[in-house]
Amino acid sequence: MLISHAHLDHYGLVDQVSPRVPVYAGRDAAAVVEAASFFNASGPVLAPAGYWEHLSPTRLGPFTITPHLVDHSAYDSYSLVIDGGGRRLMYTGDLRGHGRKSSLFDAMVTRPPSDVDVLLMEGTHVPDPAASAVDPTPAQRSSASETDLEATPPTWPGSPPRTRRPRRPRWGTRRQA
Ligand SMILES: [Zn+2]
Repeated sequence: MLISHAHLDHYGLVDQVSPRVPVYAGRDAAAVVEAASFFNASGPVLAPAGYWEHLSPTRLGPFTITPHLVDHSAYDSYSLVIDGGGRRLMYTGDLRGHGRKSSLFDAMVTRPPSDVDVLLMEGTHVPDPAASAVDPTPAQRSSASETDLEATPPTWPGSPPRTRRPRRPRWGTRRQA
């Protein structure tokens, strides 16, 4: 199992897989998950069989995985370039170009891995072009259920599960001093 970074939507089900399946992740990412287990004792932990190191290939059976450290909100995040059978797949993982390590993004765009046959790209926060940035209509307001408005407790260091929504402001209410 190849873990790109320590956000729950990327490693949260790791304990559902047989412990005989080796896990690979960043060393610091695994350390962050281990440290965070204090706050979430029932959450999964990573027990990697091996660790990613920027641009240092790891051989796993017929595959060679080359991690590329990327800019992301989770510390020690990687894109993974996987070679096997004469073909090359690049999995971007989550990445961004506006964070503290934006130079990594710039470097990847300037000098991307060559001869990639398949690009598998994350798109969790790609904007929906059909979504409107304007205020919701009265019909949209009335269709919002209380469930939609419930708070989701933060789960550090990961992201909230995709099935939950963060708290949204109640439309039409005004703050009072
Ligand atoms: Zn992420």
